[in-house]
Amino acid sequence: MSEAPSSGTPYPYDAPASQALFDRAAAVTPGGVNSPVRAFRAVGGTPRFMVSGAGPYLTDADGREYVDLVCSWGPMILGHSHPEVIAAVQDAVSRGTSFGTPGEGEVALAEEMVDRIDPLEQVRLVSSGTEATMSAIRLARGFTQRSKVIKFAGCYHGHVDSLLAAAGSGVATFALPDTPGVTGAQAGDTIVLPYNDLESVHEAFHRYPGEIACVITEASPGNMGVVPPQPGFNEGLKDACRKNGALYISDEVMTGFRTSRAGWYGIDGVKPDLMTFGKVMGGGFPAAAFGGRADVMAHLAPAGPVYQAGTLSGNPIATAAGLAQLRLLDDAAYDKVDTVSETIQSLVTEALTKEGVAHRLQNASNMFSVFFTDREVRNYEDAKRQESFRFTAFFHSMLAQGVYLPPSSFESWFVSTAHDEQAVQRIADALPAAARAAAEATAA
Ligand SMILES: *Cc1c(COP(=O)(O)O)cnc(C)c1O
Repeated sequence: MSEAPSSGTPYPYDAPASQALFDRAAAVTPGGVNSPVRAFRAVGGTPRFMVSGAGPYLTDADGREYVDLVCSWGPMILGHSHPEVIAAVQDAVSRGTSFGTPGEGEVALAEEMVDRIDPLEQVRLVSSGTEATMSAIRLARGFTQRSKVIKFAGCYHGHVDSLLAAAGSGVATFALPDTPGVTGAQAGDTIVLPYNDLESVHEAFHRYPGEIACVITEASPGNMGVVPPQPGFNEGLKDACRKNGALYISDEVMTGFRTSRAGWYGIDGVKPDLMTFGKVMGGGFPAAAFGGRADVMAHLAPAGPVYQAGTLSGNPIATAAGLAQLRLLDDAAYDKVDTVSETIQSLVTEALTKEGVAHRLQNASNMFSVFFTDREVRNYEDAKRQESFRFTAFFHSMLAQGVYLPPSSFESWFVSTAHDEQAVQRIADALPAAARAAAEATAA
């Protein structure tokens, strides 16, 4: 069931238990996975089926241990099986798993979030980042009574129909569906623009006066690799929205409570009208949220006319896990994550430089990724110019040596407070061979 990597780079097939599970999975689940990037299609080989996680480590079905640099795509910022988070979950579980009524846990989690982030006056809890962005867009449209949405190429906001859109032929023209199953009508109200390009935003507002409900952007993008906003970009978006009566939606599903105590807002201080969250706030459970200006949120049912709901929204287990995790995330915790991130970034740079591999380490606070290119990556077009075949070789060398990287060169790497000296040493030990593999890799 596994595929050859696009580069033809050899990689070890030494995961028989994972392979057997993957074969079983493929019989009952499309592609053998419940979320596409887990399938290793970008890098080839057999996805590792994990059976447990402790601190900075994951253990797969074959009993091999890996230093985890994915951290469940961000949520596990305290590492796996943090004792206090596990205890909070066990305590919540002992009282029942879902009531379908309001409960104190969801209030406490909302209070903790509102307390950390000034522009967040009210929040509504949901179960996934996708639901959060979908609902925020609906609310923005309901509030402004306009239909068009601006998004940026390379920014991912979950699999919302209208946001699975690709740029049309000209700048500031209507988008085309980016996947079968999204109709022209669903994509047609979306305008897809190049990231970090304020000119094109001004042009779009000029072209569609009074029609644009909102601009949605990743607070600092991590879904095309890490591509931070250029100085003034987010501020410029906010100003353009304000001037044109549109809402500025900052998607902090990835950056929220990760890049600082107050997420990316805590770093650039640009005040959005609406924000979206997920990942870290759920402590490894399905909890997400959207929120922002109280006068906008007042339009949401049952307070207002814009409908939105969820059977498991504010689930007591998920909110207990999220709250326990957030309460442990004090300044010292962020210092620790930032420091270990910087250490690993330096080690990667050192190893690749030593082998003469053209690369750029880009970071947004403690989120970072490596692009195999010598040019700065400012948008999705730049990101696509990297030599991904070098990443494939690098990835498989690290994997074989017990370091689990995101299986795509278009993803951020994530670290946690649990990444101690021993875990960092394992990464350091694996890097020279991986850098050599990257240097020796050839395009297919
Ligand atoms: C992960 C992510 C989402 C989608 O969240 P899901 O919980 O996977 O639906 C949305 N926006 C951003 C920026 C993300 O990183």
